[in-house]
Amino acid sequence: MLCRRKGRTPRRPKKPSNIEKDPVGVYCRIRPLGGEDEECCVEMISSSTIQLHAPDGLKANRNGEYKETQYCFKKVFGIKTTQIELFEDVAKTLIEDLIHCKNGLLFTYGVTGSGKTYTMTGSPGEGGLLPRSLDMLFNSIGPFQAKRFVFKPDEKNGIEVQNQLDALLERQKRDSQLSVPKTPSSRQRVDPEFADMINPDQACKFEGVDEDCCYSVFVSYIEIYNNYIYDLLEDAPFDPIRPKPPQSKILREDQNHNMYVAGCTEVEVKSTEEAFEVFWKGQKKRRIANTELNRESSRSHSVFTVKLAQAPLDADGDHILQDKSQVNVSQLCLVDLAGSERTNRTRAEGSRLREAGNINQSLMTLRTCMEVLRENQMCGTNRMVPYRDSKVTHLFKNYFDGEGKVRMVVCVNPKAEDYEETLLVMRFAEMTQEVEVARPVDRPICGLTPGRRQRNQAFKDELSRRLEERGGPVNGDPVQLNQLIESLPPLPPCELSDPSDDQTLPRLMEVLERRYRIRQKMTEQFNQTANNMKFTLQQFESQFSSKENVLHDQRSKLGEKDKVITNQRTEIERLEKKSKTLEYKIDILQKTTEMYEQDKRSLQQELESREQRLQKELAERRRMEQRMQGVVTDTKLKWERECERRVNAKQLELQNKLWVKDEKLKQLKAIVTENGGASGGPTEPPRKPERPSRERDRNVAQKSSASPTPLSTVPPVHPMHRRSHSAGGEKWVDHKPASNLDLDTVMQPIIPNAIKVSTPNEKALSKCHRYVLRHQELASDGEIETKLIKGNVFKTRGGGQAVEFTDIETLKQEGPTAPSRKRRSGSGEGPAQADDIENRVSANKCLSLLIFVQ
Ligand code: ADP
Ligand code: MG
Repeated sequence: MLCRRKGRTPRRPKKPSNIEKDPVGVYCRIRPLGGEDEECCVEMISSSTIQLHAPDGLKANRNGEYKETQYCFKKVFGIKTTQIELFEDVAKTLIEDLIHCKNGLLFTYGVTGSGKTYTMTGSPGEGGLLPRSLDMLFNSIGPFQAKRFVFKPDEKNGIEVQNQLDALLERQKRDSQLSVPKTPSSRQRVDPEFADMINPDQACKFEGVDEDCCYSVFVSYIEIYNNYIYDLLEDAPFDPIRPKPPQSKILREDQNHNMYVAGCTEVEVKSTEEAFEVFWKGQKKRRIANTELNRESSRSHSVFTVKLAQAPLDADGDHILQDKSQVNVSQLCLVDLAGSERTNRTRAEGSRLREAGNINQSLMTLRTCMEVLRENQMCGTNRMVPYRDSKVTHLFKNYFDGEGKVRMVVCVNPKAEDYEETLLVMRFAEMTQEVEVARPVDRPICGLTPGRRQRNQAFKDELSRRLEERGGPVNGDPVQLNQLIESLPPLPPCELSDPSDDQTLPRLMEVLERRYRIRQKMTEQFNQTANNMKFTLQQFESQFSSKENVLHDQRSKLGEKDKVITNQRTEIERLEKKSKTLEYKIDILQKTTEMYEQDKRSLQQELESREQRLQKELAERRRMEQRMQGVVTDTKLKWERECERRVNAKQLELQNKLWVKDEKLKQLKAIVTENGGASGGPTEPPRKPERPSRERDRNVAQKSSASPTPLSTVPPVHPMHRRSHSAGGEKWVDHKPASNLDLDTVMQPIIPNAIKVSTPNEKALSKCHRYVLRHQELASDGEIETKLIKGNVFKTRGGGQAVEFTDIETLKQEGPTAPSRKRRSGSGEGPAQADDIENRVSANKCLSLLIFVQ
């Protein structure tokens, strides 16, 4: 079994275009078989796929080769599909589009007898797409239709709009010309042939109708036979003696490049019934022509066009806007194409064969057009589409070149006989659905406020209600009038059969007189009512004029207010501009302020830090001053003591010198005496001059000075109790009082092996045999002087520690600009030294300071 599923040709990239396109919507409808015993070669295998089986006879012909082909469509409708189901899927959106000013084209395609006419037109009770479309259209726009002749075709495929009065005049003119009664406007049975096409339960309606528009429907019906166009609605005067053959029409292009049948009758219809009537009129004419001219009806294409004109209501919602540019026209073409089969099937002969060939030619052209279009769209080629080769394609050129929605119902008769034709139909259908048509764009809206019709209706209702309240007539009621006439006394029988009858006439006269009286009474009443009415009307008019005046006043006030508003608006704009510039300025100022504030903050911080530093420096200076004062007092005290000590030493020296002189004098005296008194007494041995003892010195010093100096005291130590030096280097007690300042000198005294103490204690002293005191004082030149007072540590007899000072080392730091240093370097008293001057004052053994630590 060969099962071939036809894959679609992959689409090639197309030229970039921002126009949205939709493929032609192709639907497939399978009609039921004519008889149960007929062979079926079509099977619906899904809601979008059908399968064709080659019939048995054909299989035998092709050496038993079994062949099945599948075809996909937008949707497949099986034999049980009802007309309404088909309509809802295929045509409903086309009607909605039509109301939204978008064009549509719907055609049925298939072999003769496949159900094209059944699908398009239907049968009584089984209305097809055409009657249902009309029904839906009128159900939707019904109450919003314009009066007849308000919209008027302009013979150039356009529609004009005219005012109510012109339309009324035209209506009256037509009525006077036509002796026939007016077209019925209500649903009533017009022709039993198309009666009950649609079950009222199945009525469709589109709810999205713009109520602020007025609509008018125009229909036209043409037939294309043998590549000639005939107007099926044309009212040609019929000449029974020399019947003229129908005149064919030509195609023209309008200013929007749309094709139209020139001079084709467009009938304005106001209801579904009226439209049906027009359609059936055309159908009848078609049938007559076919019979008279011996035509094959299945070989003609019929095109029923529904044109919808719409224009917005004016701002009051009462009348149609008298602006042709605001009139939108859209159309839906419903096409029942000729049978697609080849000619030999109909066994046509002679001229009919030629005609059939022409018809087939137009379908061939349709196929070629579709093929070229598809190729151009898919391959990006630009081949010319031969629309002009046939009237059908030429007429619908704009749907494929321009925009619109195109739908096709492919009708299939599943009988085996049609198999080969059906195959061709399927191929064409499948190819057609690859053709794309530009999607219609939405029309711009008029810009007036919506709800105008409703507001106007509400106003009219209110007006009639008020009139009714005042007792005025609302409408002339014919029932009331009839009742009134019936209430008059009935006329008696007035047939005079006997010349001597003297009763009938007086009775009649009496009745007539009574009637006359009643009539007069009624006239009086009428006049009174009319007067009342007149009065009411006058009142109403005066009220109306006063209201109008008020309205006028209000309008002028409104105008003034408008002016004020405009002025204020300009003022507001000016102020807004000003406020904007001010805001800008404020912005800049704020930014500047922020900058300044930041500066201020940083300056304040700097100020604070500087103040803190100043405070610190001041405190430091005060501390320094205090320390310096202490140092000055110390030094002063020390020098006083030193002076005292030197004075004492000088005194001692002078005393010693005096003693030596005394001694010398004594020795001289003794010599003198020895020499002079040798004869006298015994000679005294010469006394060795004696140095005054320390004790004596001390006593002398004590005598000369009230304050005893510790320097002159004798240490109560055992001089032999020195610690051994050979034990491994000297060990030092480094006494650095806490008040000492750390000087930033390069050369610092380094004492190895030292125990550093801030106050001397016995423990430290007991471990060492050398002692050094770092003493700071202010020199006479204002510089700080550090003295290293060194001494030996002894053990006292009592078990304590004693220190004997032996040496003073002076360390001095000087500023380079110090005048004393300059002077010194200039005077050449000693070598000029760098920053640190180490001035050793040798005071070996002239110091005898002892510290006792117990
Ligand atoms: P075509 O227009 O394609 O030549 P018709 O519409 O005239 O074919 O159909 C031929 C016959 O088949 C008609 O009698 C019609 O009633 C009938 N028919 C077609 N389609 C269907 C259908 N879907 N259901 C019932 N009867 C149908
Ligand atoms: Mg038909």
